[in-house]
Amino acid sequence: MTDTVIPIFDLRDHRYKSMVPSIPAQLLAPTGFIADSRGRPLHDLRISVTDRCNFRCVYCMPKEVFDKDYTFLPHSELLSFEEIERVARIFASQGVEKIRLTGGEPLLRKNIERLVEMLARIETASGKPLDLTLTTNASLLARKARSLRDAGLTRVTVSLDAIDDGTFRTMNDVDFAVRDVLHGIEVAQAVGLAPIKVNMVVKRGTNDQEIVPMARHFRHSGIIVRFIEFMDVGGSNHWQMDEVLPSSEVVRRIGEVFPLEPVGANYSGETAQRWRYRDGGGEIGLISSVTHAFCGDCSRIRLSTEGKLYLCLFATEGYDLRALLRGGRSDLEIGNAIAQVWQGRTDNYSEQRSDPAVRAARAESKIEMSYIGG
Ligand code: SF4
Repeated sequence: MTDTVIPIFDLRDHRYKSMVPSIPAQLLAPTGFIADSRGRPLHDLRISVTDRCNFRCVYCMPKEVFDKDYTFLPHSELLSFEEIERVARIFASQGVEKIRLTGGEPLLRKNIERLVEMLARIETASGKPLDLTLTTNASLLARKARSLRDAGLTRVTVSLDAIDDGTFRTMNDVDFAVRDVLHGIEVAQAVGLAPIKVNMVVKRGTNDQEIVPMARHFRHSGIIVRFIEFMDVGGSNHWQMDEVLPSSEVVRRIGEVFPLEPVGANYSGETAQRWRYRDGGGEIGLISSVTHAFCGDCSRIRLSTEGKLYLCLFATEGYDLRALLRGGRSDLEIGNAIAQVWQGRTDNYSEQRSDPAVRAARAESKIEMSYIGG
């Protein structure tokens, strides 16, 4: 073992603290709207369906931590599809309109299409279909795009950190080729999944030279590339502020080659700032969690693979929803417990990140991105 290996007990049993949410004494029927202590509505649920991934991206699941000795969750610990569907229905009754499946790599979860089919049947509190999407590394997308679409998936987001094959292979650290990701994207487009978004995490000194080539590759394709500032999610990616390339610099570099203009948000709480090419070549997004915190509009909640709720990507503590699901609690009781948790939410880590004391206090205990998705 090297010095950087974090034992499993530190990662889950000790570091990932959780509590069982309490059930309020007075149970209220869901109204389709709940707001947290800062008035932020609950709108967006991210569900991690597996903690496994076949990539070892250096900023997410670095090999030195997630090595052959790493113990992933046993199947019995994972929420079943039936449990996930039940939770999703309860969340929809409380105001969630968008569900994103994440991982790990969600397409590694066996029969994921069956879960998609179950979730696609759920309606929002106002009777509309849920906005159901999925974030994938696309390694299995070519094989699964059609069956996912047939199951009811309408769109997909692909993580791709470079268009240069050598850089991409280095970043995914398993020697996976860019052309196979691009093939997955092509198949997804061909079967009608739309819009397709491509997420590129920009790490200064590692892949920032890929910004303009990525923009060039996907212009006029209908695919929206979103450039994400490298964040201090979890503790295993050894984040340093000087590895963050500000989104303003991304816009400057692309704009020098392909002139850009800003576009308004699609909806309140949208994480990406939108820009479009002046020549009609499409649009890009900038996700600037480090330089322009968007906590004020954050309407996202995360459910881990084993059924723990997290109120923030940078949380240190979760709420054990699985204990309620497996403890014989009714939907009404669980819905009220969720509402109470959300109503007490104060999280705004990105607004506080510049404070070294805040960073230091969380440094040892933030959950890993591979555990709850990005
Ligand atoms: S830091 Fe937490 S509260 Fe702020 S935008 Fe990110 S997930 Fe939301």
